[in-house]
Amino acid sequence: MSDFVATKAYLDNAATTRIDRRVVDAMLPYMDSIYGNPSSLHWFGRAAFAAVDAARAEIATRLGASPSEIYFTSGGTESDNWALRGLASARKAEGRHIITTAIEHPAVLNACRALESEGFEITALHSGPDGRIEPDSLRAAIRPDTILVSAMFANNETGVIQPISEIGRICRSKGIVFHTDAVQAAGTERIDARELCVDALSLSAHKFCGPKGVGLLYVRDGVGIAPLMRGGSQERNLRPGTTNVPGIVGMAKALRLAVDERERNVANIRKCRDRFVSRVLSEIPNCALNGSSEHRLCGNANIAFRHVEGEAVMMRLDLRGIAVSTGSACAAGNAEKSYVIRDLGGMPGDENSSVRFSFGKDNTVEDADYAADALKEEIKILRDWSPLSQE
Ligand code: PLP
Repeated sequence: MSDFVATKAYLDNAATTRIDRRVVDAMLPYMDSIYGNPSSLHWFGRAAFAAVDAARAEIATRLGASPSEIYFTSGGTESDNWALRGLASARKAEGRHIITTAIEHPAVLNACRALESEGFEITALHSGPDGRIEPDSLRAAIRPDTILVSAMFANNETGVIQPISEIGRICRSKGIVFHTDAVQAAGTERIDARELCVDALSLSAHKFCGPKGVGLLYVRDGVGIAPLMRGGSQERNLRPGTTNVPGIVGMAKALRLAVDERERNVANIRKCRDRFVSRVLSEIPNCALNGSSEHRLCGNANIAFRHVEGEAVMMRLDLRGIAVSTGSACAAGNAEKSYVIRDLGGMPGDENSSVRFSFGKDNTVEDADYAADALKEEIKILRDWSPLSQE
């Protein structure tokens, strides 16, 4: 199918990114010559332990944290589940009320649903028309038995950036523990755990040109968290399982590159995304950008194409070698429409007709133009077929 298309444009960097070649090179020795288990006491183990130790220190520095605050996990989903369940469980004697947002990734929302079935009460804050959570709605939702707030740094569908440090300050002033899912923000946003006033923060390496299957949970020193799994004593007795040495080394390298090269990457990504958005909005009638254009990740363009199905757009672009997505990758393949787009309350039907284009550091202006040209033709074809079309 699209494998035979000569020109390709990968515009699905919010789903995952291509691993940086320099990250692969940094990982290779830890799959080959330095393959020991860091928990082993012999030379092979000690060499692997030293690499994990160095990676932890490197990551901590880049996140404004100390090494004792970094716990390695298998990715964003595990970090989110652990944060929700582990922080709630450690506080259940103090209260059972948790506040989150209606637009979180399923890793948070479904962890909350599970907690609800175990007797916790969940309040989900709604976003405004710009896709942002209003800090006043958090203030109003806080109760004496609120033990935890979880609000994402940037949304995975719209790329809308939430007022995280303000939410953090509110929680801190009330003595409530605050977790943020920063999975989408890492790579292009500055993340400093202390400045953000967060107690826990989730990251996943494959979103910032690192390997898949590795992530971390930052937990501020002194903030109690129960383990999610039972097993060995790895990660200071809080996250058992044999340490993923190549993954951790790769994540540290990827984070270092992302931070050191951020200015250049952001400038390029923004240039491609802005060109694409301005062409689409000016050349294709009846479409709109979902969510704030100001408070938004530099690579994200989530656009509603009225009177067409987002999935049809996605499939037709795929035939032309252009990779985009509707909703989050985790929701793809199931018929449920976007709860994130529905929550920001645009035009009726926008939750069905929206498509996410997410640019990354390897994209070019040619990719943006190729996708805009193809989109113009495909939307016209789909609208010509659609009885709903008002063009
Ligand atoms: N949180 C957000 C906001 C995400 O976008 C994703 C992945 O799409 C996850 C969590 C899950 O991360 P992972 O794929 O590492 O499990």
